Amino acid sequence: MTTPTDPLGAGPRRPLRTAELLAVGSELTAGETRDTNGGELARSLAVRGVGIRRIIALPDDLALVTAAVAEALASVDLVVTTGGLGPTPDDLTREAVAAAVGEAPAVDAALEAWLRDLFARRGARLPEFNLKQAWRIPSATAIPNPNGTAPGWWVDRPDGRVAVLLPGPPREMRPMWRDWVVPRLSARGLGDGRLVRTLRTYGIGESSVAEILGEPMLRAANPIVATYARADWLDVRISAVDERDAGDRVTRPAAEVLEVATADVRARLEGFVRAEGETSWADLVAGAAERAGVRIAIIELGTGGALGDLLAEVAAVERDVAYGPRTTPDPSTWPAEAEAEAVARDARVEVGLALAAHDDGTQTVLRAAVAAPRAGWARTLDLRLFPRGPHGRFRAGVAAAAFLVEVLGAEP
Ligand code: ATP
Ligand code: MG
Repeated sequence: MTTPTDPLGAGPRRPLRTAELLAVGSELTAGETRDTNGGELARSLAVRGVGIRRIIALPDDLALVTAAVAEALASVDLVVTTGGLGPTPDDLTREAVAAAVGEAPAVDAALEAWLRDLFARRGARLPEFNLKQAWRIPSATAIPNPNGTAPGWWVDRPDGRVAVLLPGPPREMRPMWRDWVVPRLSARGLGDGRLVRTLRTYGIGESSVAEILGEPMLRAANPIVATYARADWLDVRISAVDERDAGDRVTRPAAEVLEVATADVRARLEGFVRAEGETSWADLVAGAAERAGVRIAIIELGTGGALGDLLAEVAAVERDVAYGPRTTPDPSTWPAEAEAEAVARDARVEVGLALAAHDDGTQTVLRAAVAAPRAGWARTLDLRLFPRGPHGRFRAGVAAAAFLVEVLGAEP
């Protein structure tokens, strides 16, 4: 059996503009496991300008999976499956894809050698069942799996369509997708050349943003500007493709469309855009602490540790935090600056952050203070938030983090 050449060198055949994502596994259709692979792959493809036609979950049923693969391969350019590549008889994605493309799987000598070596190095014999993980069909290239025993398949169809089979466990699927599959899909011509940027705003509501950006911008086809309300940010996502004339010549490249729109949105939302891309509040606090050359100790009351959770990964934040009870003294009379100074002194760091939040029956009331006792300054924030309960506590933590970033950025 000949091994197909690595698709990385194969070059463009058919632009891959549309995709279907199939998640295989009865635990998904029984509601025991949630399909997170579909959403992750969809996001990865969507930012590259691929139109996702469907995300489907299927049980371990040979006829159903075969039919779904055949249907997808007749209607979209790219089909990605996850799951069902394990060694047991109920793992049947290979069989289904082989049937859908009309080829017979056989043990691939190179894969078998790899698999036997993998087990030998663990001091084990290869169980007979596992041999099917060394299967390949003639039109498939094996995708190495650095974190498991199930190699994936890259299947080239004669009409240029591609099927990609990946294992179900996210920790196996992710690196295979990111490091092996995406570069090869990109080499084939993935998506419509769409460029995407996300501006993360804070301190302004979705309807206000929509009003400021205006209908013409929010309804335009290129660039597409859309808002997404997240728990800790209001994202404005801008995506652009090349502008072309009637003769399909590029009149304005996507990069230019994106830059112009980004500058426009930034100008209109001045003061509210706090970050770009996937930046988190922890990233912003870490950056602000580093620029200011300070370490930070925090104390929070009535938030269930929301602020500490938010900043858990920040090295500059003292994690030796005392969380207070859910019910706090009235934040409006709480001596936040004195608390912030005290926590900084106790932890022997430059900056203290104290936060108290309280659900008053209609809103979440919060008071936060940032103090630098050695430098001799302190600032207080009083705020009322509409959400109450867990969401209100979370938002109080975000508000305190935002205040911290603002204060650290402003202090000399
Ligand atoms: P393995 O060789 O590990 O068995 P596999 O390809 O056969 O790989 P499955 O048996 O289908 O994978 O799934 C193994 C586990 O991976 C599931 O129990 C589940 O925890 C996780 N998983 C599978 N599919 C998904 C999915 N679509 N989203 C999130 N997790 C998934
Ligand atoms: Mg399995």
